[in-house]
Amino acid sequence: MSEQELKRKIVAVGKKAFEYRLLSGTWGNISARLGKDRMLITPSGFEKTALRPSDMLLMDLQGNILRGKWRPSSEVPMHSLIYKTREDVSAVIHTHSYYATALAVAGQEIPVLTSEFASAVGHKVPVTRYITSGTWEFAEEVIRTLGDGKAVLVRNHGVVVVGDSLEDAFQTALLVEDEARTFVLASSLGYAMPLDVNEVKRLREAYIRGYGQEKRRLTLKL
Ligand code: 13P
Ligand code: ZN
Repeated sequence: MSEQELKRKIVAVGKKAFEYRLLSGTWGNISARLGKDRMLITPSGFEKTALRPSDMLLMDLQGNILRGKWRPSSEVPMHSLIYKTREDVSAVIHTHSYYATALAVAGQEIPVLTSEFASAVGHKVPVTRYITSGTWEFAEEVIRTLGDGKAVLVRNHGVVVVGDSLEDAFQTALLVEDEARTFVLASSLGYAMPLDVNEVKRLREAYIRGYGQEKRRLTLKL
């Protein structure tokens, strides 16, 4: 995908993330891998609805700016370390969505509760230890806790999701917030029953085999 098209999609994710109330104020950041060892990332301190494609920074994975007029996101260490460590990842989205952040503050992982979460994500969402965000130590803790998964709760901070495309990562960001809300609501009714692990596996495999339209599985459009 071209640099221009990826920049356009990052802008679209920023707008949609606000629409779905995954972000507020200037918080959160979005990046996409360009080729093997470069990334496009949002500038620091911008309201994501105000972004234009020309605001994005092109960076290498050592943290050097190759092109761009703004100071990059304060979470460059985390984004770049994820691309370095996970070759399967092409997009990273960091949100502060409400219910998921509440669970991150409570230090409570999100179990797999619904069949849609089992299908599209397929694993519970663990919580990192608390480390000051924006540091390399923080980046290492996020990667260690994420493992080969798609999402992680960041203790006393928010959510990080990864995907093989911006569409994939954005869908995960939405589903994590939905699952977190379901967890909080069901718990308030008395009990949130996690799905059986074998059923989670079956649902995930069936989804990978054939949900939606071939090669255009995600109807979500950026
Ligand atoms: P930036 O605006 O620097 O990307 O920071 C937002 C944020 O959420 C930090 O964790
Ligand atoms: Zn943040």
